[in-house]
Amino acid sequence: MTIYKMILTQCAVCATELGLSSGKKCGRCSTRYCGPECQVQHWKEGGHDQLCKSIKKAGGAEQYNANKKYTEAVAVAAEKCADDTKGQTCYICTQALHWKTKEGLVRGCACRGTAGFAHVSCLAEQAKILYAEAEENNLDHKVKDARWHRWHQCSLCEQRYHGVVACALTWACWKTYLGRPEGKWARTAAMTTLASGLFATGHYEDALSVQEAELATLQRVGASEERILVAQNNLAATYARLGHFEPALRLKRDVYSGYLKLYGEDHRYTLEAANNLVTSLLHAHLFEEAKALLRKTLPVARRTLGENDATMLRLRGNYAEALCKDPAATLDDLRESVATLEEIERTARRVLGGAHPTTTGIERALQKYREVLAAREPR
Ligand SMILES: [Zn+2]
Ligand SMILES: [Zn+2]
Ligand SMILES: [Zn+2]
Ligand SMILES: [Zn+2]
Repeated sequence: MTIYKMILTQCAVCATELGLSSGKKCGRCSTRYCGPECQVQHWKEGGHDQLCKSIKKAGGAEQYNANKKYTEAVAVAAEKCADDTKGQTCYICTQALHWKTKEGLVRGCACRGTAGFAHVSCLAEQAKILYAEAEENNLDHKVKDARWHRWHQCSLCEQRYHGVVACALTWACWKTYLGRPEGKWARTAAMTTLASGLFATGHYEDALSVQEAELATLQRVGASEERILVAQNNLAATYARLGHFEPALRLKRDVYSGYLKLYGEDHRYTLEAANNLVTSLLHAHLFEEAKALLRKTLPVARRTLGENDATMLRLRGNYAEALCKDPAATLDDLRESVATLEEIERTARRVLGGAHPTTTGIERALQKYREVLAAREPR
């Protein structure tokens, strides 16, 4: 069976890891192999003689793979959203069915009522045009960055897309920029974006392979410390999800101190990195360290992010968790924890919506710690 990885770093026949540069490529379509034997086998028995032309026509193996994954992801997203989008129209092209692709509508942000329904193609086209315009006019970095957000953040409610919608849109992003030269910002940024979409749909192994390829690329081209920190931060999250807790904790410590040095304590990235580190500390049962970091971070976050910010909600959720999980928790700790969760649950519902993973995570924690508290309350 042919195994295509998300970013093609493996032999197309035997799946040997090739890294970014080793092995052999098909001279026409750039499909990658570990050596001539696998290449010959792929041509003779793997159906490559039939496919090679269409792969070349699509722009090479990586492009062909990305286009295919994109089409699949759009179909999955439209189907998953079908009930929610029934009778609605796209806010961009105003149609229910896309004129060209015939794809259905999606919605995967915090938009409610009749707002925010769209085709993945229309969202992608908008992001592409807006970013291209910023590039052509050489607009400054901040504007470019804001435009890039359109690949993973809804312009109406300003929340990140989640689940299958994030996944489809990030494939769109990768297929748009993968042809750029290796050292170009948009190409590695598209890898970051794709990995986040894969992560959002639970494709952690795939996200990991994209992120490892991305980090290797960044280090090879001598990218800035900022870019490398972002890549390490994302990689750490994936390690944690895959159960590789030790490397995750190590990376998160590095990332937090890196951001602290680079941007100072009140930058959003530093605060997010602190929250990520806390999550790993809690997992490692390092409660005292987690609580100390939170006590230092929460006042800063309250001042700079405000109570309605998603990261602030996660920080407070983690604080509640740190109080409860500690075996030395007092009854007052438990009460404070449940009261905190009740408060942020209301805020999360209002700001992020009930379907947002942060909201559902808070709800789960609230349910659990209400029970813990009930069992400890004196009768
Ligand atoms: Zn091979
Ligand atoms: Zn070929
Ligand atoms: Zn549309
Ligand atoms: Zn929205």
